[in-house]
Amino acid sequence: MADKPHQNLAVIGHVDHGKSTMVGRLLFETGSVPEHVIEQHREEAEEKGKGGFEFAYVMDNLAEERERGVTIDIAHQEFDTDSYYFTIVDCPGHRDFVKNMITGASQADNAVLVVAADDGVAPQTREHVFLARTLGIDELIIAVNKMDLVDYKEESYEEVKEEVIQLLKQVRFPSDDATFVPTSAFEGDNVSEASDNTPWYDGQTLLEALNDLPEPQIPTDAPLRLPIQDVYTISGIGTVPVGRVETGVLETGNNVSFQPSDVGGEVKTVEMHHEEVPRAEPGDNVGFNVRGIGKDDIRRGDVCGPAEDPPTVAETFQAQVVVMQHPSVITAGYTPVFHAHTAQVACTIESIDQKLDPASGEVAEENPDFIQSGDAAVVTIRPQKPLSIEPSGEIPELGSFAIRDMGQTIAAGKVLSVDER
Ligand code: GDP
Repeated sequence: MADKPHQNLAVIGHVDHGKSTMVGRLLFETGSVPEHVIEQHREEAEEKGKGGFEFAYVMDNLAEERERGVTIDIAHQEFDTDSYYFTIVDCPGHRDFVKNMITGASQADNAVLVVAADDGVAPQTREHVFLARTLGIDELIIAVNKMDLVDYKEESYEEVKEEVIQLLKQVRFPSDDATFVPTSAFEGDNVSEASDNTPWYDGQTLLEALNDLPEPQIPTDAPLRLPIQDVYTISGIGTVPVGRVETGVLETGNNVSFQPSDVGGEVKTVEMHHEEVPRAEPGDNVGFNVRGIGKDDIRRGDVCGPAEDPPTVAETFQAQVVVMQHPSVITAGYTPVFHAHTAQVACTIESIDQKLDPASGEVAEENPDFIQSGDAAVVTIRPQKPLSIEPSGEIPELGSFAIRDMGQTIAAGKVLSVDER
């Protein structure tokens, strides 16, 4: 499995449109969930009078296990096709799904957008497509799901497809590359096998479409950047930071630096899937141990990089942002929470430098007094606590962020330049 190229896949879409069920179905049909686990959930579901809910059940259970975090097994859900080895970068159904989707989507190569045929494009469909676009997802596969609820009618499928195409056009997502598949995650139509229920459809199944995605460019040329997700203490080993290698390579013997905590040392061991490995590459989820680093020296939100080319820590940075939803207006001085890779830091929008025409990207106004929903702008941002972040032109994996306030994502953006501390 590991010989195939790797793809990080985001599964996005409005709540209840079937993301968890689809992921469960994909894992199940690719043989990635052992039959006995499915069987166990089937029994549990039936006992609770929820017969037929086994796939969503499997997903909930996997998410729970991951949250408990008892082991350093940080493996996300994984499955493979003939061409690729896929990791689902976030767990749908998770409480913080939207937020995670933002920090996760910046790292996903491609995405499956699930849109329920009986509901069509809904608010989170827009939000997620918009974010996927801003944060650099290459290609979308759209599963027009719950086809069983619309009696597998071609008109219903075409209607939803047209709605999604309009949405993609609005956010200037290249819709020519998007693949649409009519599915029922629940019944298993067109997921791994062409369905008899949709004789009018002669396109790919979801798995065929996944298998046909373009190969992601592996950013091994960039310096090592490994955002820390958690820090554990493991008996017999010591302090074990865990996270995913975003760029570059991590090898035992490397001298590394954690920023902004500003500590470092030599990498003693690297572990992946419970096994010691000599090196880890982009996309690999690892736990590792660094000589002389204690549990309180580093924290979630730090980024690990080479000692000779350490992660950048920003005094201020300039970024391009798009305001998705804000009840009033955003002016200079506004200080919401920024989510960038694994970090969450309050940052002040120090100045609004330019308002951009969202259609052309051209400057529409210099130094505007405010921006509001639907606006794109160039702004200067000052983190209130040290934040490691990189220009997206140099290291795109570490160059995007989401802005949250009042319990929702109000804007997303990418870093244009960084003024270092
Ligand atoms: P999520 O919030 O997008 O992850 O949605 P879930 O996967 O939790 O599904 C929400 C509900 O829709 C659950 O009750 C599922 O059983 C149901 N569901 C998911 N996919 C399908 C489908 O293809 N057909 C039907 N009829 N129900 C589905």
